Amino acid sequence: MKHPVLSCLLVVVAASMLGCTAQPKARKPRHELEFGPIDPAARRAAGLDVDSLFEAMDYAAPNERRLASGAPGPDYWQQQVDYDIDCRIDTENDSVHGTEHVTYHNNSPHRLSYIWIQLQQNLFNPKSIGARSHTPGQILHGELTFEGGDQIGWIRSNGQDLEYHIYDTVARIELPAPIEPGAVFNFDVDWSFKIPPYYRRMGVERVEDGKVFELAQWFPSVCVYDDVHGWNTLPYLGAGEFYNNYGSYNVNITVPATYLVSATGMLQNESDVLPQTLRDRLATAMSSDEPVWIVGADEVGTPGTRPRTDGEMAWRFHADMVRTFAFAASDAFQWDACRATVKDKSGAQRSVRVQSFYPKEAKAWSADDEDGGSTRSVKHSIEFYSGFVYPYAYPVMSNINGPEDGMEYPMIVFCGARKHSRGMNGVTDHEVGHSWFPMMVNTDERRHVWMDEGFNTFINVYSRADFYHKPINVDQHRQQTIALAKADNRQPIVLAPDNMWHSWLGMLGYRKTGMGLVLLREQILGPDRFDTAFHEYVDRWVFKSPRPDDFFRSMEDSAGMDLGWFWKGWFLGTGGVDFAVTEAGTASNGENGFATFCNLGGVVLPLPYRVTYADGTTEDCRLPVQAWAQSDVWKAVIDAKGRAISKIQIDPDGLIPDSNARNNVWER
Ligand SMILES: [Zn+2]
Repeated sequence: MKHPVLSCLLVVVAASMLGCTAQPKARKPRHELEFGPIDPAARRAAGLDVDSLFEAMDYAAPNERRLASGAPGPDYWQQQVDYDIDCRIDTENDSVHGTEHVTYHNNSPHRLSYIWIQLQQNLFNPKSIGARSHTPGQILHGELTFEGGDQIGWIRSNGQDLEYHIYDTVARIELPAPIEPGAVFNFDVDWSFKIPPYYRRMGVERVEDGKVFELAQWFPSVCVYDDVHGWNTLPYLGAGEFYNNYGSYNVNITVPATYLVSATGMLQNESDVLPQTLRDRLATAMSSDEPVWIVGADEVGTPGTRPRTDGEMAWRFHADMVRTFAFAASDAFQWDACRATVKDKSGAQRSVRVQSFYPKEAKAWSADDEDGGSTRSVKHSIEFYSGFVYPYAYPVMSNINGPEDGMEYPMIVFCGARKHSRGMNGVTDHEVGHSWFPMMVNTDERRHVWMDEGFNTFINVYSRADFYHKPINVDQHRQQTIALAKADNRQPIVLAPDNMWHSWLGMLGYRKTGMGLVLLREQILGPDRFDTAFHEYVDRWVFKSPRPDDFFRSMEDSAGMDLGWFWKGWFLGTGGVDFAVTEAGTASNGENGFATFCNLGGVVLPLPYRVTYADGTTEDCRLPVQAWAQSDVWKAVIDAKGRAISKIQIDPDGLIPDSNARNNVWER
């Protein structure tokens, strides 16, 4: 990193020698700015493309599927895949066996002569690409003898075996005949796998009262075929989460009769699997804003909580418009629930069942916990984001405590934090926030981690502020953004997560992206203009799959501002922000003041600054970002009304991740 000291000196010298004294008098300022010179060498050293930073983004040509406005076009299409799954967990041997009937709707205008499916459990085979190459410590935890991965019994269509070829975590199925545009293809798969003894988005854990199973990325699912990449066959390596089709699910889950099951979707056979007492309590919960015990701490494992305790029982769930299906099962769960109230776009109010399942080890989760417990936290997240982003579209949200630290699926999240309510609240809020990105706005997480983790981190900032009744706090986001800009091996936000240096994933994909959107809202567009554009983006793409360009275009179109300089600096570039104030004083007319600012970083932003006068009064001013289009140095004219300036402070509210705070204040 070359920019901090040396280029600062160069620019300051250039400014004082050339710019501020060599003004073209003909261009009398219409606003507070006067022109200074560009120093191309300093800019290049700071990682800026001198010629194109302020030019509009060079987007791919728009088409009738994805419009220049950033909206989906009249020819937009996406595939639909419906699943009917029957599965059984062998809770003694920690394995799953399932059969599924897949209904593939070819909504594309193309004839498909083969299908790709994902076999994500293959990641847990010691020979998988992910296990051998990527983050082995994380995926296999050193257990190279575990025989993980999918065992495929058969793949059939209409009773006829289909030829298939497995390549790591994907498999290609040869079709008896091409699937015509608009046609439907049905096929069936039989599979089984051993549940890995280490935890990666799923797993099993032994707790004091029994076992907790969390099952996710667990069934063979059809890869996405879309208008941008054709078949999406990126392997499951560990960091990149998933990109799936929307569809409807009917899932039967067979477990021992002593187990409780929570899953994506609504339970369809309550009367088979729950005794009347529990069903009555659930009905009470749906008219209560406070958690109601469905299975209390002292009831876990007691016969009264189950219709019977011998043999097995099938739990049946149904879900529509979801991009995958996950579930949890345990004989150690406590369970409490209440309603969240969601106002739909029409203004109509709807009740959503919010509930938590947790073993007794999860002290902070209890509805009786003095800090509120899990279900109150879930309720807050569902209600807050329904107003802040888009009405929650589903009928239920379950929070599960078990082996996975934190992972999101439609209508169900896994959250590992147990003992401290602050940790539990933070993780819960984050995972529930994923209901919007990427569950309802279906982004490709294998490629664009920032569009789900970063967008979610952004909305989390406001949810946390609301939950704790405090102003937004982005200290961690700001500090990590600064650390990224100062690092030697800098990478841009827009990388695929599997290509990011592992330690950068959280900082780039989550915090720097979240920080960028906070800056876009608070500093660049302002809340009104930002919220209108951001809501427009969500409205346009809810239950569809936007790409980065669709987001960039949509925000620019709806907010009415060319933001190419911001997308390039913040998302595509690797530089940081470094503003400096080098001098201030009184202009020759004795009335005005002036201050000279330098841009030394790779990212440009509008520059907020506070002027303090000798008489103690202060004034907040702002240099528009366009100042940096032609110059790295600005001599700003200040309407001082004859008052002497005693201090200039850049970014008085501390929102900008400025890499070098030491040059941010000028004092007489
Ligand atoms: Zn996340």
